[in-house]
Parts: sequence; C-alpha cells; structure tokens
Amino acid sequence: MENEVRNIVTHLREWLEAYQEMGFAPPPVPAGRSSMEADVSGTGAVHESEPEGTPSLEALRDHIGDCRRCRLHEGRNHLVFGEGAPNARLVFIGEGPGREEDLAGRPFVGEAGRLLTRIIENGMRLKRGDVYICNVVKCRPPGNRDPETDETATCLPFLERQIRLIKPEVICTLGRVAAGSLAGREFKITMERGKWRTWMGIAWMPTYHPAYLLRNPAAKRPVWADVQEIMRKLNEGGRKNV
Ligand code: URA
Repeated sequence: MENEVRNIVTHLREWLEAYQEMGFAPPPVPAGRSSMEADVSGTGAVHESEPEGTPSLEALRDHIGDCRRCRLHEGRNHLVFGEGAPNARLVFIGEGPGREEDLAGRPFVGEAGRLLTRIIENGMRLKRGDVYICNVVKCRPPGNRDPETDETATCLPFLERQIRLIKPEVICTLGRVAAGSLAGREFKITMERGKWRTWMGIAWMPTYHPAYLLRNPAAKRPVWADVQEIMRKLNEGGRKNV
C-alpha cells in the first residue's frame, strides 16, 4: 500500500512536470496545504516537501541545518550533504554515507568511493570535481543497513532540491536502494539497470553500486556499458563543462 501511494505520487509529479514543460500553468494549490506532507510511511513521521525557498546549495545546506528530522541523526558524526560542481551536467546518487563518509563528512570517500572516482576519472575521463556526488539519505544508517522508507521520505525533498538547483542533464543512481528511492518502489537492479528513465524530467541511468563491483568484479562490464551510454548522452547534449 505504502509503495502504491509513493508510486502514484511519483507518477503525478512526473505528469505535472511534463504538463508545466508544455507551458501550462501549475494547478492551484488547495487551501490548507502547508509545506508539510501527509505521512505516507505509516510511521507517524511528517515529511517536509521540497524547500523551494532555498536559492542555492549553500542556502539548502543551511536550511537542513543540524538535522534531527529522522532517527538517523542519533548515530551520525557528520551529515554528508554532497559535493562537486554546483552546475554539474552529471550527478551521481548513492544510497547513504558509510563509515568513512560519516567520519569525513564527504560522500564516496571509502573503498567504494575510490572505485567510483576511478570510474569517473579513468573510465569517463572527467574530473571528480566536475560532477556532483550525493546520496539519498544524508546521514549514515547504523551498521550500513539500508535506509528505512520513512528515513528516505524525510530526506528525499532535499535531494529533489539539490537536483532542481544543479539542473544536471544526466543522473546516475548507484545501486538498488538509490534507484528504488527515485522510482518509489522496489527496484530489481539486475533486471532494470542500464535503461534510460527520467526522474524530475531529467535523463536517469540506474547502474550497480561500486561496493557491489568490489564484491563482483564481473559486474564491471555492464557498468562500463552504462558509463559509455552516459557519455554518449552527455556528448549529444553538448554543453562544455561536465
Ligand atoms: N555508499 C553510498 O551509497 N554512499 C556513499 O557516500 C558511500 C558509500
């Protein structure tokens, strides 16, 4: 039921975006709707919607502040907001910080992160600082467990705002959890990776998580294919900075 509601919300949002892209005015907001959304997770949590009054990534980071909106704050050392070029053409999205990221306050700096950096720099021939790297949840889930649905729902508006501000041409999600968070449903990464989708009206390529590649080196081949597909799309787009 919960997934169904999230699915409907995702489809409605995509439909509304397409509608606005066609030049139609957004429909009026019903009286009484605040910046809080109803609890769709059934946990009692009330989720903020995308903080539209934040005009920059710095303003968004300030808005998030010393976040205590979900239980993940309890065990964190650092909130890991994300890093990279504020106008990047390509954004990588992981699931959430691991131990080293939590200690450093930076995304993808552990072993999986070093592999991601090699994919970007050796595979794509880009600089890590030219893309943007972030996660669905900004605080480390204890013991590196998957983030829970209500934790994801609480943090997702901040990811949406990051994407709205960066306006990338391509999004690449890393792994099942990140892809499922964007899709609003369980994601079968082995079946569904490598195919273009859209999220927030932006081309989105789901691929494997680099941590999975460390355990299954044979999966590097399909990731290589996905990376080439991303480069093809970026070259098609033609803007100079990545
Ligand atoms: N795994 C993730 O999904 N994100 C990180 O930042 C690090 C490891």
